[in-house]
Amino acid sequence: MTVRVLVDHRAGEPKLVRHPEKQHRPDNPIQRKPSWIRVKAPNHPVYHETHALMRANGLVTVCEEAACPNIGECWSQRHATMMIMGETCTRACSFCNVATGQPDAQDASEPARVADAVAKLGLRHVVITSVDRDDLADGGAAHFAAVIRAVRAAAPGTTIEVLTPDFLRKPGAIEVVVQARPDVFNHNLETVPRLYPTIRPGARYFQSLRLLDTVKQLDPTIFTKSGLMVGLGEAKPEIMQVMDDLRVADVDFLTLGQYLQPTVKHAAVAEFVTPEAFEDYARVARGKGFLLVSATPLTRSSYHADADFAALRAARQARLAGVAA
Ligand code: SF4
Repeated sequence: MTVRVLVDHRAGEPKLVRHPEKQHRPDNPIQRKPSWIRVKAPNHPVYHETHALMRANGLVTVCEEAACPNIGECWSQRHATMMIMGETCTRACSFCNVATGQPDAQDASEPARVADAVAKLGLRHVVITSVDRDDLADGGAAHFAAVIRAVRAAAPGTTIEVLTPDFLRKPGAIEVVVQARPDVFNHNLETVPRLYPTIRPGARYFQSLRLLDTVKQLDPTIFTKSGLMVGLGEAKPEIMQVMDDLRVADVDFLTLGQYLQPTVKHAAVAEFVTPEAFEDYARVARGKGFLLVSATPLTRSSYHADADFAALRAARQARLAGVAA
């Protein structure tokens, strides 16, 4: 377990800082959410079962670490997105609630624990993501591959989606993950290139795009997927340009969701995009040729990922049938 900076004592309780690099930033007051962003409190019995299984297997989930608003709904259906390689990220993106700092040592038992949880949950489809591990020689690529292989062995009927970091452009990393043959390879662009220096400062827009393009060139049978947050101050034509860039990289599935500010130290919400505007984005994206588009205020990379995977497969078959006809 990583111990982060101790800064405060209230009633004798030490307070751990999740984002030490953000503490010097001025506060951005959190705006009241509009009526269309409402989620149910997590109190379903299956939610508690999912929670207990994650703890029993010693697993970290992005659902909890990112404070995802959909956790009540997803966990009530046993959909949890496991976050491998620890709970501490080596980057410091200004939108992200995952804790930052010195990461934990690699745990060789993690692939088996993830696979065991997937089998016990009886998942048709699983999403596996990770923190950024810029400290590792391969960015964590071999560990991703080990988790994919362990899940395949323990739950052969489960389709596997990985949501990876950019591996800090480490040579051979993408190839290692592709060779393990996930069904879906997701890598999020997150925002438009103009906002990278403030929102995603450790990443490079065209490197992320190249990663997606490389996956498709290495294995065209793997579905590729990418996501954007809106409401960070981007302009509509910039989103259109990103859609075009993703189509040039032959990305199959686009997700678009509203950015929500986790704490006062994170980037401010510039705008709450209306559900109607999301529908417009979805219509345009479909017109640009994505096989599948999910664009709603609460869309997240892994939201409804199992149903979406089935739709993605059906869309590819329909397109291939159309080409053959
Ligand atoms: S949308 Fe994804 S991250 Fe959020 S609760 Fe559902 S599975 Fe977890």
